[in-house]
Amino acid sequence: MTVYLNGEFLPKDQARISPDDRAFLFADGAYEVLRAYRGHLFRAREHWDRFDYSLKALRIASPANTDFASIASELLKRNNIADAEATVYLQVSRGAAPRKHVFPADATPTVYAFAAPFANPVEKWASGVKVITVPDQRWARCDIKSVSLLPNVLANQQAQEAGAHEAVLVRDGFALEGSLSNFAVVLDGVLHTAPRSNYILPGISRLVALGLCSALDIPVKEFPVAEADLKCAAEAMLFGTTNEVMPVVQINERKVGEGQPGPLTRKLQQAFRDYVGECQRRG
Ligand code: PLP
Repeated sequence: MTVYLNGEFLPKDQARISPDDRAFLFADGAYEVLRAYRGHLFRAREHWDRFDYSLKALRIASPANTDFASIASELLKRNNIADAEATVYLQVSRGAAPRKHVFPADATPTVYAFAAPFANPVEKWASGVKVITVPDQRWARCDIKSVSLLPNVLANQQAQEAGAHEAVLVRDGFALEGSLSNFAVVLDGVLHTAPRSNYILPGISRLVALGLCSALDIPVKEFPVAEADLKCAAEAMLFGTTNEVMPVVQINERKVGEGQPGPLTRKLQQAFRDYVGECQRRG
């Protein structure tokens, strides 16, 4: 595998990162994950804007002469996946410096990126998935896509161990989002999803899905869903770069609706797939 590190494309086993790197010592960095649909980087502009937002929020200077779009395209080419389904991961840390909490005066940000083949979760798209609810133990800046993901990792592990696809994080009684996805339910025919705030990541897939809802005349309420109301949900779904629109058919031990992907979810899922196809065609 060819990866990108600090200006160079090189075999992964030759990539060397200092043990003083602040991403290693402090999880002091930000990242992005994009889907490449046969070489087309989906909604790339929004991903770059969010990356910029995260880096600014962490006060990490965006590295000079680093064009993330070119790096992503080059990685797809060099790994022979420019015509395949793939994901691209990019990370910027504050750089390497002797371990002190305070920002180092002269560290250069470390930029690391890789691309990997990706298989669409077609079976799960068809069947729908189970999720569990877990307490949200994250900090109060979930809007920053920081590499500090330990609460997400623990929640996701708990979900896997419970035979679930995803953990839905509950803060102050509200089901806000998943460990790596946004979350929505259908209550009385209206799609409810947590509003943008410092308590959720503003997902690009969520943004696309809400745009499609508007085009399809699906009513939306950007309002946090109380955990207690989840039992009344007729449908539920996850939004995310690797999930697109993923139907949720079980929350903890309770079926959602009939325990099958619901009609509104199906409609949105298909509209998302169609939109991806349209973006690919437009290039
Ligand atoms: N929420 C969290 C916590 C995430 O980590 C992610 C993606 O990694 C999302 C939501 C979905 O965001 P996107 O649609 O941009 O992938």
